[in-house]
Amino acid sequence: MIITPKIRNSICMNAHPAGCKQETLNQIEYIKSKGKFDGPRTALVVGSSTGYGLASRISLAFGSGSDTIGVFFEKEGTDTRPGTPGYYNNRSLEDAAREAGLKADSINGDAFSHEVKKKVIDLVKEKYGTIDLVVYSLASPVRVDPDTGEMYRSVLKPLKETYSAKSVNAMTGEVSQASIEPAAQDELEATVKVMGGEDWKLWISALKDAEVLSEGAMSVAYSYIGPEVTYAVYREGTIGKAKEHLEKTASEISDLLSHLKGKAFVSVNKALVTRASAVIPVVPLYMSILYKVMKQKGIHEGCIEQMYRLFTEKLYSTGEVPVDDEGRIRVDDWEMRPDVQNEVTTLWEQVDSGNIEEIGDMDGYREDFLRLNGFSVPDVDYDAEVNEF
Ligand code: NAD
Repeated sequence: MIITPKIRNSICMNAHPAGCKQETLNQIEYIKSKGKFDGPRTALVVGSSTGYGLASRISLAFGSGSDTIGVFFEKEGTDTRPGTPGYYNNRSLEDAAREAGLKADSINGDAFSHEVKKKVIDLVKEKYGTIDLVVYSLASPVRVDPDTGEMYRSVLKPLKETYSAKSVNAMTGEVSQASIEPAAQDELEATVKVMGGEDWKLWISALKDAEVLSEGAMSVAYSYIGPEVTYAVYREGTIGKAKEHLEKTASEISDLLSHLKGKAFVSVNKALVTRASAVIPVVPLYMSILYKVMKQKGIHEGCIEQMYRLFTEKLYSTGEVPVDDEGRIRVDDWEMRPDVQNEVTTLWEQVDSGNIEEIGDMDGYREDFLRLNGFSVPDVDYDAEVNEF
């Protein structure tokens, strides 16, 4: 079978196994080229198959020589159809880690469930001893409460009023006005339940109760703030409330870890094209303009560069971990630089369907979008038949 991308409603529906493998190897090569750092001996990454979680696990394994456990929710291929991208990313990462003499195990299942937490604990006891670092990098549209069985769905909506702003169809380049109705109270509560800090705390509590956390254990979860133009739908919308909850939970988790002299952090990361962010209205247009400005200034980063900087310059730098007034690590510092944001705002006001290709980096956006699913990756032979999934 020759595999070409199938795109519907800003979602790429299929994956190219060889492309996903190569994209993962490219990230590994980047970390190897940067040299070693003194990080954790063992790490658990929850949400490890794509985006920031994958980049975290690669940075830790190949930068710090960490033995890693990954947790994710992906579909394997069948005899006739490829699986999801994260399945191939993970296979490639595990093979490379084992070849490098590192322990690497993964659990493909629902991270919100008690069952998967128990499987991870059993695995740690059997093979890893204790865990030095827990990275929490889940992005999910749904969560089943493990105690009540109730299913919650997250929504990306503003809170008080209908929000209207420019948005782009990334595939056609058409810029139009998007309008999103405000969320109802139960939608807000459901979004906090899915993307807030409750499950992160359940993970740390379960690991702590099972006594599989190391002395000095740390945990980090990822958040986003972003520019004013997306505030109504992001930071001050339903997802922003969930992120506030996640950030608040960090101090509760630090309390849980205090007997081990451990600590929990939230790292605010840069806006990047991932499977989760591509579907947020308005955000792709912002990202295409942001990419253009940051590339021109020579400060553009992808997930792997962001995560390498997080571990080497923030979490595992010598001395205190540098944080902002609210205790958060900021690797969105370059994105939020006033000179970057001022230029983005000026371009945002000018952008329309006629000039988007010059004003925004739509080619860069599309390329990143396709690469998430293993397409448009240099040195991959897309004319070759793929018959094993
Ligand atoms: P992503 O979609 O690339 O990755 C999500 C991961 O979660 C995948 O490994 C997926 O398999 C896993 N997952 C989802 N549901 C699961 C479940 N029920 N059980 C087990 N695994 C499950 O997303 P991402 O963009 O890398 O986001 C990771 C975190 O980073 C999120 O908290 C997100 O808000 C945050 N963040 C993202 C951006 C951005 O621009 N992409 C910016 C800042 C912060």
